[in-house]
Amino acid sequence: METAAHALAIMSSLRYTPSLHYRCSNTLIVMQTSAPGITSPLTTCDVLVVGGGPAGSAISALLAEKGWDVHVLEKDHHPRFHIGESLLPHSLPILQRLGVLPEVEKIGITKYGAEIVSPYHGRSRTLYFSKALDGSQPYSYEVKRAEFDKILIDNAVSKGVRVHEGIRAKRVEFRHDSTHLVQAEDRAGTTITYEAKFVVDASGRDTFLSGQFGGKYRNPSHNSAAVFGHFEGVRRLPGKDEGNISIVWFDHGWWWIIPFKDGTTSVGAVCWPSYISTRKVPLEQFLWDTIALCAPVAERMAKATLVGQAYAAANYSYRRSTMRGDGYLMVGDAFAFIDPVFSSGVHLALNSATLGADVVDAYLRKSPEYQRHLQEFERSVRLGVKTYSWFIYHFTQPAFRNLFMSEGSKFKMEEAILSILAGDAFGKSPTRLPIFLFKIAYYLVYLFNFRENWTAFQRRIRGVPETVTTLKDYALHDRR
Ligand SMILES: Cc1cc2nc3c(=O)[nH]c(=O)nc-3n(C[C@H](O)[C@H](O)[C@H](O)COP(=O)(O)OP(=O)(O)OC[C@H]3O[C@@H](n4cnc5c(N)ncnc54)[C@H](O)[C@@H]3O)c2cc1C
Repeated sequence: METAAHALAIMSSLRYTPSLHYRCSNTLIVMQTSAPGITSPLTTCDVLVVGGGPAGSAISALLAEKGWDVHVLEKDHHPRFHIGESLLPHSLPILQRLGVLPEVEKIGITKYGAEIVSPYHGRSRTLYFSKALDGSQPYSYEVKRAEFDKILIDNAVSKGVRVHEGIRAKRVEFRHDSTHLVQAEDRAGTTITYEAKFVVDASGRDTFLSGQFGGKYRNPSHNSAAVFGHFEGVRRLPGKDEGNISIVWFDHGWWWIIPFKDGTTSVGAVCWPSYISTRKVPLEQFLWDTIALCAPVAERMAKATLVGQAYAAANYSYRRSTMRGDGYLMVGDAFAFIDPVFSSGVHLALNSATLGADVVDAYLRKSPEYQRHLQEFERSVRLGVKTYSWFIYHFTQPAFRNLFMSEGSKFKMEEAILSILAGDAFGKSPTRLPIFLFKIAYYLVYLFNFRENWTAFQRRIRGVPETVTTLKDYALHDRR
């Protein structure tokens, strides 16, 4: 109440009422503006973070812990729908460090592994994280992102971060050897200016700074789009496997089935552009039609009903060559995003935010350790993206399917793949040699069945250069 009264006092000292959304000690205070186009006074801070997803919440909380005055701009309002619901085991130590693990445990269903279903082999197999090379993280959680992201942003607020919801960052004026000016706008069209010593772009697939600088390029080897929704009545796996993610291959890409604690399930298809461009019906109907094309998914969804609306995400495979500059850093999807198949997105976002916090802290303190932190940040972020990329590009090839479905792996290949599936992607475990051997095995199997693999490859990349224009990406348009 005291903080609310304090904020009200500040606001009433202003001669107008811009639409500022303050979170003070877990209390969201919404001040509505009455006059569009009005420009508010300057808000100053040490660090301005654009985006209140996992990357933005994590880096802001860690920087606030180090004593910096951090503000977050979030164009949306938490809790809000977001995709990216299957977490990796190696994210748990990061969540522990942030202090949110007990709360995540409460909302999550435990995921011990991944069930891989191959209609081409007529069977499935389950890979358990406990068998990874470093079996120290044998499980993770499936979470609704509305709940998960709310926990993370509330945690940032509890550490002193000022979160402004419903405020979209528009542009940054970078000033050499000085502070930087961030122009933002609330939903009523009021312009708000923030002055910060450092700017963090954690805007996810909106890629806020890339919009200003350019430099983001579509992935030349991969392009997909996804259609998905939350459902009731999806059949679950039995016993301990109930919380496992299921990944199902089909002719136009692959499916995920992610169960939630409340009994609902996230189901989505990642499809090649050539298939998406055949859509002639509304999105929800297209989702049901696509379900009918994959027998193992259709069977589990025989009694399912959609909860809420169907969503789409399009053209999401991209990266940029640089992730930092004088006075700014990009973390999470703001730098790169390839594909969700290994559920790596949130893990990469949390990892880059953690390392990014050390970079920003060292920059602000003018520490001699700055270069070292920067190098470690870049090395780790690039290695993570690179590690997952190879698997993502080859995951739907017949050669990969055959190797993945064969039991009795040699030379610890399976254990090494499980390590990467668990999020051990930054070179901590000795995965290099077994993964190298797996790749050799893959190319040999590929050559052995060259025609089949070549045809599958052609089918996957057909249409990659074109953008999918028939789908509206839910995350990139305003949900006002
Ligand atoms: C189809 C699909 C399925 C996926 N499945 C998984 C999965 O199972 N597991 C997994 O780990 N990952 C998955 N991902 C990836 C995951 O969604 C992302 O990698 C993850 O959310 C990245 O976190 P982030 O904080 O970088 O970005 P985000 O979570 O996208 O957060 C960015 C935030 O910035 C805000 N924002 C954007 N622009 C502005 C602006 N200009 N001003 C103010 N605020 C702004 C947005 O509203 C948003 O809240 C999936 C992705 C897709 C597309």
